[in-house]
Amino acid sequence: MFKSEYLNRVYNEFVTKNPNLTEYQNTALEILESIEPYILEHKEFEDKKLVERFLEPERFIQFKVVWTDDKGNYQVNRGFRCQYNSAIGPYKGGLRFHPSVNESIIKFLALEQTLKNSLTTLPMGGGKGGSDFDPKGKSDAEVLRFCQSFMSELYKYIGPNVDVPAGDIGVGGREIGYMFGQYKKLTNDFSGVLTGKGLTYGGSLARKEATGYGLCYFTKNALKALRNTSFEGKTVIISGSGNVAIYANEKATALGAKVVAMSDSNGYIYDKDGIDLDVIKEIKEVQRERIKKYVELKGRGEYHEGCKGIWQIKCDIALPCATQNELDLDDAKALVKNGCMCVCEGANMPSTLDAAKYFIDNKIVFGPAKAANAGGVATSGLEMSQNSERMSWTFEQVDKKLNDIMTNIFESCYKEAKAYGKSEFDLLTGANISGFKKVSQAMLDQGI
Ligand code: NDP
Repeated sequence: MFKSEYLNRVYNEFVTKNPNLTEYQNTALEILESIEPYILEHKEFEDKKLVERFLEPERFIQFKVVWTDDKGNYQVNRGFRCQYNSAIGPYKGGLRFHPSVNESIIKFLALEQTLKNSLTTLPMGGGKGGSDFDPKGKSDAEVLRFCQSFMSELYKYIGPNVDVPAGDIGVGGREIGYMFGQYKKLTNDFSGVLTGKGLTYGGSLARKEATGYGLCYFTKNALKALRNTSFEGKTVIISGSGNVAIYANEKATALGAKVVAMSDSNGYIYDKDGIDLDVIKEIKEVQRERIKKYVELKGRGEYHEGCKGIWQIKCDIALPCATQNELDLDDAKALVKNGCMCVCEGANMPSTLDAAKYFIDNKIVFGPAKAANAGGVATSGLEMSQNSERMSWTFEQVDKKLNDIMTNIFESCYKEAKAYGKSEFDLLTGANISGFKKVSQAMLDQGI
């Protein structure tokens, strides 16, 4: 599998130690394949067991979350926090509430987060957590009781200099607020222990927009460097209609593109005249309803049941912003056949590994998740800085810093892709090597 005997051995041991954790194994494989040229240059890493040290999470916590629903019935969920690597700063990474959450998903996300946070150049280690709780269809009171119960356990393991969680799928401003309130009650400490907070209690302007905007800033740089073009006049499809997807649509549109399709986990809408984002915000952010409602509210467009069909739509740029493994090799082939020139990932690991390789081999501008969607955590880092200095910066200040960070991330991926990748289009290799270099150096320096 690898040229390096060392990596073959490490990966086989990793699979034996982590049976059935498919997403986690796939992420480790992707990372090891990318960093192999760098490992081959450094024979001393084998003696120091550096890759084994890197792949082992520092801590994995699983706990019981008991809460009562509106009928007074007991409900039991699982909570998780994986504190993967703290070599370059306190653990940092989101909390996901979705029925699919399990050990494999949390560990793959935490490993990805470790390299992503390194890429931002901010001092943040990697972590991730969440629960198999499904906020969909629950009342506010039920979500409040769940969040309080979840935080009643999690608070023991986090802190502004220890581990700073944020939002992810199913965890937005409402959930962060409820968890922050409970943390404060339990610790009597008003601190920046969570990011993605509301603006009245320490949140940062532009945090809500950051992942989607950052994705477009990364894409803008990649389009310019690799194809000497821009968003102007391009047709875009975006999967998902959550936090990342909505603000990716907003920025892509501001940069001159037309977004014609978006989705949720039930299906997708196609509006050839360009999706009216205000209607999507009303459905998703205000009413918490299904995307199907777009056609009824807007009076135009088409709704299609099922998510897969979205990749069959003709477009110049595709921004997968829903969830892991939502775009497979067949979808990748359909996109390329229909003339798509650019795929940048807003979600975490939305493309399967073979789909990602297909894009790179076909010289499609491909922005891998850990680089392209790093704007969210980067702005969380900026929120931590504002909390520490007890100041708040303007939207424009934060947005400018975000734009600069995304430009730097692109440039470091591009530089390493040219040095170690298959071609300058191999930003996946660029991102993994760039992120790994900094974390591994800090681990060597600290003997951890
Ligand atoms: P949200 O919960 O706000 O939105 C998620 C969206 O994806 C919803 O439209 C949801 O539809 C859809 N979705 C979820 N699961 C599936 C599925 N199995 N199939 C199809 N669609 C699905 O989450 P975010 O926008 O915050 O996160 C989206 C992705 O971006 C995730 O991979 C996350 O890890 C990643 N990310 C998020 C960051 C952030 O700052 N929020 C930062 C970096 C990465 P439905 O409503 O029907 O469930």
